[in-house]
Amino acid sequence: MPRVDLLSFTLEEAAEELRGLSLPKYRAGQIFAWLHKGVDFPAMVNLPADLRTSLAERYVAQPAVILENKLSGRDDTVKFLFGLQDGQCVEGVLMRYRHGRTLCVSTQAGCRMGCVFCASAIGGRVRNLTPGEMLGQVVSVNRYLGDAGHVSRVVLMGSGEPLDNYANVIKFLRLFTGSSGAMISMRRISLSTCGLVPEMLKLAREGLPVTLCVSLHAPNDAVRVKLIPAASSYPIEDVLQACRNYTQVTGRRVILEYALIDGVNTSESDARELAERLRGMRCHVNLIPLNPIPESGLNPSSEADSERFEQILKAGHVSVTRRRELGDDIGGACGQLRRSCLSRQEAMK
Ligand code: SAH
Repeated sequence: MPRVDLLSFTLEEAAEELRGLSLPKYRAGQIFAWLHKGVDFPAMVNLPADLRTSLAERYVAQPAVILENKLSGRDDTVKFLFGLQDGQCVEGVLMRYRHGRTLCVSTQAGCRMGCVFCASAIGGRVRNLTPGEMLGQVVSVNRYLGDAGHVSRVVLMGSGEPLDNYANVIKFLRLFTGSSGAMISMRRISLSTCGLVPEMLKLAREGLPVTLCVSLHAPNDAVRVKLIPAASSYPIEDVLQACRNYTQVTGRRVILEYALIDGVNTSESDARELAERLRGMRCHVNLIPLNPIPESGLNPSSEADSERFEQILKAGHVSVTRRRELGDDIGGACGQLRRSCLSRQEAMK
């Protein structure tokens, strides 16, 4: 029997859940505070010992434990492999910048969107993560950091499509609001989607001012559906309309992600078509160097092509930057560590 993942509960829900144990009212708050600091039951030192034991029998305090961490030799990036109760694993990446620490969090084990360049798509979706398993990644890394600080930004850009696990992702975001240890403002959270239009429209109305990032990766539908099979349900114009709606409702500009792939989406005419399509739209384009995975046969574009692409967008008055790639020497991109863990597990069978 898997133990109940108490980190998925709001403070009110936790209090309700713990009522069965006839505890004084303040205990729920104490337990909640420990959970959000990533502390396991035996170490909750202000609780009576017998309570710690009975909590540990019923509940899991750390639904996403760090199994492995790998520090980049070139920068300060750390890649984590988190183990879940049922033996699944997901990964996260901690990027340290001058202004803080950003954790890339996974929302599903695997993914069913099928993007041809992405390691998480291989093998499809195994299951959705619970809100506690997502929050667990953040609190585990906070524990790992200890006195060195805590996660100050979260990007939902690990494995999975956040809007394909809508209810759990929304709850995960709301847990931060009531959080006592892992507090992060919504403005410091970015959610990346491959463009699921109905959920993008719904998200705009949630009253959660997260930064919305949309994986565009192409200037038109013909190129886009080849890269993102899930895009065949949502034409690019509908996706951009949903972005404009997000900005209108939340006041926040949307980030459009565009991975530069050699010979696929980086020609002069691709850049012109994109600039034309985005004309007058309040958005920012983030050009990402493709992180090649052997399975795809796709390669990053040359420096010269990337530069030309950026300059054409700039000339078209599109706000654009090229993202520096952190941690590419440690399989920093998208599902690569989980893949290598799964193949090791496979080899041990
Ligand atoms: N499902 C979400 C989150 C995915 S990961 C989404 O599609 O947006 C975050 C970003 O990394 C997405 O823009 C995704 O398209 C991109 N990405 C995935 N694999 C990549 C790779 N190998 N190289 C560069 N970017 C990649």
